[in-house]
Amino acid sequence: MKRVAVIGAGIAGASAGFLLKNAGYEVQVYEASNRLGGCMGSYIIDGFTVERGPHLFMDSSGSLRRLADALGIGDELKEVGAIAKRRYVVCDGNLTVIPTNPQSMFATQALSTSGKLRAALEPLIPAQKNTGSESVADIVRRRFGDEVLANLIDPLISATQLGTAEDLSSRYVLRGLRDLEQSDGSVIIGGIRSMRKRDQNPKTVAFPKGSWVVLEGLREALKQELHLNTLVRRVRRRRDGYQISFGSNSGIHVETFDHVVLAVPAWALSYIDFDFGDRTLTGLSGAGKTPYAPAALVSLGFEADQIEHPLDGFGMLIPSRERRRLLATIFASSVFPDRAPKGSILLTSILGGTRRPFDISLSDETLVRRTQADLSKILGIEAKPVFSHVARQEQALAQCDRNHHERLTDLKNTLDKLSGLSLISNFGGSASVPWLVQQAEQILHDIKSGKNNRQCAT
Ligand SMILES: Cc1cc2nc3c(=O)[nH]c(=O)nc-3n(C[C@H](O)[C@H](O)[C@H](O)COP(=O)(O)OP(=O)(O)OC[C@H]3O[C@@H](n4cnc5c(N)ncnc54)[C@H](O)[C@@H]3O)c2cc1C
Repeated sequence: MKRVAVIGAGIAGASAGFLLKNAGYEVQVYEASNRLGGCMGSYIIDGFTVERGPHLFMDSSGSLRRLADALGIGDELKEVGAIAKRRYVVCDGNLTVIPTNPQSMFATQALSTSGKLRAALEPLIPAQKNTGSESVADIVRRRFGDEVLANLIDPLISATQLGTAEDLSSRYVLRGLRDLEQSDGSVIIGGIRSMRKRDQNPKTVAFPKGSWVVLEGLREALKQELHLNTLVRRVRRRRDGYQISFGSNSGIHVETFDHVVLAVPAWALSYIDFDFGDRTLTGLSGAGKTPYAPAALVSLGFEADQIEHPLDGFGMLIPSRERRRLLATIFASSVFPDRAPKGSILLTSILGGTRRPFDISLSDETLVRRTQADLSKILGIEAKPVFSHVARQEQALAQCDRNHHERLTDLKNTLDKLSGLSLISNFGGSASVPWLVQQAEQILHDIKSGKNNRQCAT
């Protein structure tokens, strides 16, 4: 049976390790930090459960459901209620419900009459071919106009990608827009057609107790195979497989494996010394140049009777034109009532991103104070928080900018030349947890069927 090394124990590597182990492979999982989970993780403090990253999962392929079932925690993964579908955007200081279909787009208060009329012209605008290097802002501006960009797309991109629509490539971010333009000649017409065709909406699911539930399941399942505080420094190709050099508390060690699964973020690829013998392959270190955006998640707890706003939704997005520090706020306890003690509410705000990258270096006190100030202006919350928590990630999400296609093409060329090396990437256009788990499933399938160099980046 093949020996497989998995490098990185975020959700991607831990899922791959578990699935491989379950299928009978001899697997070792190496993780540089002192915990499994990477970007994902929960903190339970004073009766509040706060997340350092993901809250909701769009499990359209069912991969997360299959993982939870295989771990024996299927009952913990639940479809989220209708409340999570309602999202707000701040418009001139006021909260407005975000339109979710063409009809509600024309009723929304997030756009002026002229903004709506401009958006309504979208089906009449000829489809453009050669859109290769267009940014998200370019395609949205071209098809829907400046207002849709500034009031709806800019805050969506800041909150979900931590980047800006001007910087990110439409090839990787909101790529449905580009696909619909090419297939149907119009995003609106294509969108209506695909809504009619779709027999069911993708399932939005979550672990209501916190994402720690799935991480704990994986940690328990990988007790023998998981090596924490173990930094992989070198991956060396040998005739009989790959030699991995890693450093841990007990010194530097070397082990040989038949197959290696890389499950680290792009930036980490530039710190690993890849030695492929006489071949000069630059794709992995080149991918390491992918820029990442930082984030600080500031969670505040309040006594519920001191908050006037009903907080009846998943949360609110804040466009840059509102000139606030917050990129978005998740009404965590509205969707997950058990994440705050009875009589309290929990709000988790996202700060930083490429809009305000330096904010994440501010002290906890300053971040809390500034979050409070914005929440007071937008939601009218004047009460003092009864709880606060700050989680920072300096390299939170990959930025698929206009140079990304070149980097990924080079990476693909490198991986195509190597066998026995697979990559699960959170920098190939989607960083969603179910997508990463799906890639782990695919790697198991490929190793089983003898296809050796699956790379999931593009
Ligand atoms: C603020 C935020 C909110 C998010 N919200 C959502 C959401 O709502 N829904 C959703 O689906 N997704 C969301 N995401 C995205 C999702 O959380 C991430 O894409 C996913 O968790 C990444 O998992 P990963 O395993 O690919 O990488 P990571 O979590 O980055 O894990 C990689 C691991 O590799 C380790 N490592 C690195 N180098 C080495 C080395 N040389 N040797 C050994 N180990 C190494 C690292 O220590 C790390 O633990 C969010 C992300 C962020 C930051």
